[in-house]
Amino acid sequence: MIPLSQPQWQLKEGLLKDRPTDSAATDSWQQQLAGACREVPALLAALGLDPAEAPYPLEARSAFPLRVPQAFIDLMQPGNWFDPLLLQVLPLARESEQAPGFSQDPLKERDTNPVPGLIHKYHGRVLLIASPACAVHCRYCFRRHFPYEDNTPSRADWDKALDYIRQRPDITEVILSGGDPLALNDRRLAELVGAINAIDHVTTLRFHTRLPVVLPDRISPELCDTLQAIDKKVVFVIHCNHPAELGEALARSLGKLRALGVTLLNQTVLLSGVNDNAEALSALSRGLFNVGVLPYYLHQLDRVEGAAHFELTDEQARQLHTRLMEQLPGYLVPRLVREDPNIVYKAPLVQATPAGSQ
Ligand SMILES: *Cc1c(COP(=O)(O)O)cnc(C)c1O
Ligand code: SF4
Repeated sequence: MIPLSQPQWQLKEGLLKDRPTDSAATDSWQQQLAGACREVPALLAALGLDPAEAPYPLEARSAFPLRVPQAFIDLMQPGNWFDPLLLQVLPLARESEQAPGFSQDPLKERDTNPVPGLIHKYHGRVLLIASPACAVHCRYCFRRHFPYEDNTPSRADWDKALDYIRQRPDITEVILSGGDPLALNDRRLAELVGAINAIDHVTTLRFHTRLPVVLPDRISPELCDTLQAIDKKVVFVIHCNHPAELGEALARSLGKLRALGVTLLNQTVLLSGVNDNAEALSALSRGLFNVGVLPYYLHQLDRVEGAAHFELTDEQARQLHTRLMEQLPGYLVPRLVREDPNIVYKAPLVQATPAGSQ
């Protein structure tokens, strides 16, 4: 048994060693993706949790259904209803509570959407929705009301998006996002990346992805070949919220990316009940650095309907950020920001008076 009082991220190596190897270790990433858990009872059973003993009301049927790959379940602590990874994926009844200020499209992205699947809001860089699908459904996701299936970009949409980029020499960076760009299969991804690689004025290709974290085998040999063939700078911004997400398989996959010269950054969303304490956040920064990743952004939540119970106040967020500045070298302190539909950069949550001045 694992004592509940001990932080889980100090136990992970032992945990992994003690577990029998399961299918996640041998199936291809596509098989693991297709086999992701979609049923609440199956997830709870895998963790030895009895739904009758749930300490909070669950939501059996959500319009944004449960989805979580086995590799991510393997990082959860059995028997713990408050496991910080479980709480990111388990649908709760609280999600149907209405909260003032929370809407279905908090970022109003439709206003900065010149062609389908492309968002051009920030200077010099465009964001391409390479795939609307995700390997995991995060309960706090701002795209949880997005009609994913109706928005699968067609080849014609990609052509329009690529033309848009070709015609604008001031666009120097293309960000592949989603959903998750790595939910695309290797062949389609290679096609898209190849087309971007052929545009001379684009100097940097960036991936925003959570897939290496929830399904580390996604860093497949085919993907590595595609990355190897790019002559642009390549940046991966992974999305890791808690030090318990930093397993050995992720470390191995990140090692492959580093060997290809990929710059590795991380973004985290501040989540009440998951990572709203300075110990977890500083362990996350240090753990990321150990596997070659620098912390980039610490986000205040996007105010999407269904996620209100995850929100921290700006004051709480600033206090946590101050603790990080006190505890960590500057290069391990992520920038505390919020996405604002009316501002063309990630707006910093400005610190009030320094702590020292009381
Ligand atoms: C976050 C974001 C970017 C990238 O911003 P950086 O500050 O360069 O990380 C670009 N476009 C959009 C629409 C974004 O939301
Ligand atoms: S991986 Fe990202 S886009 Fe996908 S559900 Fe999670 S937060 Fe949303």
